[in-house]
Order: sequence, then structure tokens, then C-alpha cells
Amino acid sequence: MAPSLHPIVDNGIVQGDDSFPGGTLQCYCTNNPVQVKVGKNVVQNHACGCTKCWKPQGSLFSIVGAVPRTLVEVTANANKLYVLDASMPVQRNVCKECGVHMFGRIEEDHPFKGFDFVHVELSSDKGWQAPFYASYVSSIIESGFHPAGMDDVRSRLKALGWETFDVTPPQMSDRIATWRAQRSGALPTPLPA
Ligand SMILES: [Zn+2]
Ligand SMILES: [Zn+2]
Repeated sequence: MAPSLHPIVDNGIVQGDDSFPGGTLQCYCTNNPVQVKVGKNVVQNHACGCTKCWKPQGSLFSIVGAVPRTLVEVTANANKLYVLDASMPVQRNVCKECGVHMFGRIEEDHPFKGFDFVHVELSSDKGWQAPFYASYVSSIIESGFHPAGMDDVRSRLKALGWETFDVTPPQMSDRIATWRAQRSGALPTPLPA
């Protein structure tokens, strides 16, 4: 049997609703679950093959989207959250009992500061943006996936109509490079029109 990409991919992508107002994420705990209210739909929802993003057991990819951090609020059992690795740019706030990552937040100067990264599968609300591309695809090998299986994985992703990237898609890469150029002085801030 082919390895699972991710349950919400394997089960058939359900398209999102443009007017969806956001919803509530909940960790796996049956007692006193952590709840996080997200006040807007996510953008850039995608599959990520990196070794850091949280993914369900047995999945090759995480599904992760971005939302402005000002619209993310812990509404229950905040005392169960801790930062997994404070040395990482994205500080993943994790439930200490079930291990689910509730949101990733950036505190340092960074191209994506101001956005939190969340996993909409943790919500039973319907209408979240569907994932639409895959990033860090080759990185699944770093988690132990046999490289001989990569052609199969990429062809399954492309069969969804997705583009696949081994790091980030061009718009994201351009944003990161622009941010670096503005800090080094190679480009002015703001950019000339
Ligand atoms: Zn939990
Ligand atoms: Zn990732």
C-alpha cells in the first residue's frame, strides 16, 4: 500500500469556503483539551515535508497554513502549552500531554513575522482553505523516507493538480530574498515603485 501523504489529502481534498470566518482548533487530549480560536481563514495552506512541522502519525507531510497572529487566541487550557524549541525561528506551541502543535509563532526579525502557522485539521469547523501545493518535498527523506519512493510521491502530488517544491514556491522564495536584501542594504525599504 502506498504510504499516506496526509489523511486530508488521501481522503480527497475538500475545497474551502471563501466566506469562512475562521474556527477553533483543539488538541488531541480527551480531558481539558487546549483550544485555540483562529479569527480568519488561513492563507497559503499547503503540504510541508520538513522535519519540524507537526504531522499526524504515519503521514509523510504536514498540512500547514498561515494566519495573522493577532487573530490567534488560546481560549482553553493555555497552561498545557510550551514552546518546543525556543531557538527555532518558528516557535511551535505544543500541548505537553498529547504532543500536538497548536500554533507556530515568530518572535524574531523574519520574513514571515506577523503570521502564525496552524494545522486546520485540528478543527471540526468546515470551510478552511484547502491545501494547494507542496513545499520541502525532498525533505521527507530526512525523516527516513526511502529516496526510491520520491517519483511516486511527486506524481501523487501532481495528480492533485499541485505544484511541488523542494524548498518554497517562487513567491515565498522571492519574499525571503527581498527581506534579506533589505536587511543587507542591497535593496531599499520600501522598494521603489
Ligand atoms: Zn493535548
Ligand atoms: Zn514544515
